[in-house]
Amino acid sequence: MEELRFVRFRLKGETFFPDRPWISDITSLEAFADLADGADAFLIDGEGPVADGREFIRLVRSRWDSCAKPLFLPTSLGEEDDLLADCVVSSLDEALGRAREINARLAEVNGEALRESKDFRLLAYLFARPDGALRPYRYPFTPQVYGYPLADLLAGENGDTLFWIQTLKERGFLTRASLVDRIRLCPQCACSHLNYIDVCTNCGSIDIVRREFIHCFTCGRVGPSEDFVQENHLRCPFCSTRLRHLGSDYDHPLESYSCNACGHRFIEADVVAQCFCCRTRSRPDELTVKAINSYRISESGKTSARVGSLEDVYALLDSLNYVVPAYFTQLLDWLILLNQRYADEGLTLLALRFADLAPLSERIGRQRTIQLVDGLAGRLRQLIRSTDVSTRTALGTLWLLLPRTDAAGAQVLSRRIRELRKLAAEGLGVPVDFRMAAFTAPGDFIEGDNAARIMARLTGELES
Ligand SMILES: [Zn+2]
Ligand SMILES: [Zn+2]
Ligand SMILES: [Zn+2]
Repeated sequence: MEELRFVRFRLKGETFFPDRPWISDITSLEAFADLADGADAFLIDGEGPVADGREFIRLVRSRWDSCAKPLFLPTSLGEEDDLLADCVVSSLDEALGRAREINARLAEVNGEALRESKDFRLLAYLFARPDGALRPYRYPFTPQVYGYPLADLLAGENGDTLFWIQTLKERGFLTRASLVDRIRLCPQCACSHLNYIDVCTNCGSIDIVRREFIHCFTCGRVGPSEDFVQENHLRCPFCSTRLRHLGSDYDHPLESYSCNACGHRFIEADVVAQCFCCRTRSRPDELTVKAINSYRISESGKTSARVGSLEDVYALLDSLNYVVPAYFTQLLDWLILLNQRYADEGLTLLALRFADLAPLSERIGRQRTIQLVDGLAGRLRQLIRSTDVSTRTALGTLWLLLPRTDAAGAQVLSRRIRELRKLAAEGLGVPVDFRMAAFTAPGDFIEGDNAARIMARLTGELES
């Protein structure tokens, strides 16, 4: 088995691990750059100071060429830093075994893409550690409380990491591993530092006091108990009746709070959450509830890690008078109405579904896949008119809307597009497969059709 090359960061004091020929030692972060390039794994060793070890971990994880590589500790450096390293190891054999597993998986990922995109760095990191997860860490004094320190470092920029991770989840690259916490945020400014306060139900003042009241049966009035106390007996301050017996002369009403600001008496105070950041007051049910999760890489995330993200490759197709899907369907609806009134002018909708590019990209490489799709988009551009518009749904499904195109015209265009399949195949020696479905009004129009129905019908045809 080929030896791995370890770079060991030596702290001061006794080392935990013995010297080995395949371990190169460095004692300063400045020396890192010279050795990091060919290193397969990293190790921290020695007694301290821990702060130096922390800096080293951050350096490894923030460089694109070392960020996903194995990194081991001799002892825990604290919860936050342990999240950034692979694990604490008790022997070099253990480190070697673990490093081999991680590196074998890293060899499968597209190394160049690590430099290009933070999405890719995070996916590659998780891909190399299939049993690992992206875990949140608690920063109690920050507005959002939870952060993802590993993701922050891999991102290599000061962006909104929480939003980024959410986006990766929405795109299907990450899945929830476990629910860690549920927090409530100010609906105004998203800060979690909330002060729950009891306030007057009438004026909202916080200046309320809990008091015992007395209700005089003779005159029916209510007042604080202390106003009724005279020497050693109770007398009503309003009607001067002496109150002897609880239950027959007086009782204690349910109200037990009074407001020093407005004098209002009430049974239970309102509870509101006041934001420490922006001072907005919200009822507890108005607060934003946020789940804090740890995440795992999904199957589609694993594919992306191997071939790089293909989002941008499909996006090359958006150079054909692209409009957003919502506008596209509006336009189609309008053209259908127009077509029903002036049926002599045809209207054609073409749907093209490209085969999944991931396996293709795995086979011929990302760069050639980009060339292929770019070339195809260029050809398509030559075939359509400036009045035709396109949109893209479901990553690889391209829609072309061709006003004033009848069935004969649609056939000509379909044939030319089909020929592109052959051209693309000849150019690179690989087939790029796509399916096509067409709708032409008025011929294919079914009573009650609208854009959504027609597009759903064509999608069905593409899948059959
Ligand atoms: Zn009040
Ligand atoms: Zn009274
Ligand atoms: Zn706020």
